[in-house]
Amino acid sequence: NTFVAIKANVDGAPEESDFELKTESFSLVVKPGCKDVIIKNLYVSIDPYQINRMKTISDSQTTSAFATNIEPGEVIDAYGVGKVIASGNPEFEKGDYVVGLLSWGEYCTYNGPFLNKLDPMGLPLSYYVGALGLSGLTAYAGFFEICKPKKGEKVFVSAASGSVGNMVGQYAKQLGCYVVGCAGSSKKVKLLKEKLGFDEVFNYKEETDLNLALKRYFPDGIDIYFDNVGAEMLEAAILNMNLHGRIAVCGVISEYTDSGKRAIPDMLNVIYKRITIRGFLAGDHMSLFPEFFSTTIDHLKTTKMHVLEDVSFGLESVPSAFVGLFRGYNVGKRIVQVSND
Ligand code: NDP
Repeated sequence: NTFVAIKANVDGAPEESDFELKTESFSLVVKPGCKDVIIKNLYVSIDPYQINRMKTISDSQTTSAFATNIEPGEVIDAYGVGKVIASGNPEFEKGDYVVGLLSWGEYCTYNGPFLNKLDPMGLPLSYYVGALGLSGLTAYAGFFEICKPKKGEKVFVSAASGSVGNMVGQYAKQLGCYVVGCAGSSKKVKLLKEKLGFDEVFNYKEETDLNLALKRYFPDGIDIYFDNVGAEMLEAAILNMNLHGRIAVCGVISEYTDSGKRAIPDMLNVIYKRITIRGFLAGDHMSLFPEFFSTTIDHLKTTKMHVLEDVSFGLESVPSAFVGLFRGYNVGKRIVQVSND
């Protein structure tokens, strides 16, 4: 079994040279009496949060059961879609498609609770990694459950061309909100406006003053900010929030690779405007999965929503796909197709 591992802990911005391909001996048969499911990985998710698992453990490090540490040289678990090649678990049989916690490797063995059978219903398998998987659920739960949006409200989304961000913007448009996104290139700006129907999009890299940029697009203030990036963008958003505004803190990607970059929000503004700032983890909202799934699949079938994904092929492309997330190289959900079906 060939898999991708880190050579050592990664602190700061990741480089492709931080990774290596390793090979381990791996049994493709299940021992008698054992409940293991042996899976051939087909599509695996490339996610920014993995960088936080690769850092050197420090006393002040914040951890979560969803983001345990990754050890150098070890297999890295990752969400994905695969095919069962052998099973000791009566719930799965050879040939089943499955979705759940797989790995950045050719094969994985699974015996935990986080694996489900998948009926692709004629849709591309990759959709179940992103738009119809955890990224989509993150956008859905974060927007509807955390932000409690109402029709006509003014919504701002950062990293808007990304996996989560593009879906937040599309859900908000479906609800009848005014939606502004920010993204890191003119190509992304064009795509979000022309293909996904965002009302306005700006390239944050071209703005010298983020506060003024937000004032330009939100002359009447922001009701909801869906934060994927943290730092200065969060500070600027707080200055522009309306009374009783809601901020969903989904991710703070600009802070992941630069520990010196932390948001210094104007807390007096938060108090006077009674702003709710709430962090969340998609994994806590699995009960919303059926509602999210049926809503999203309907929107996709009626082309009210579009899937934005960015798929590369081969395990050897995992390091560049991952590193590229922190350089804004991806457009939509970054996925690696490990193998053909
Ligand atoms: P994306 O697909 O959005 O990829 C990351 C994007 O972030 C890049 O394309 C880039 O776009 C932008 N970016 C990278 N570095 C910076 C920076 N320094 N400043 C501003 N923008 C930057 O990733 P995801 O959609 O998977 O994740 C988005 C966020 O949501 C992340 O913070 C992630 O950790 C978080 N997340 C949280 C979950 C939860 O349960 N709370 C679950 C899943 C994701 P650009 O060109 O616009 O700069």
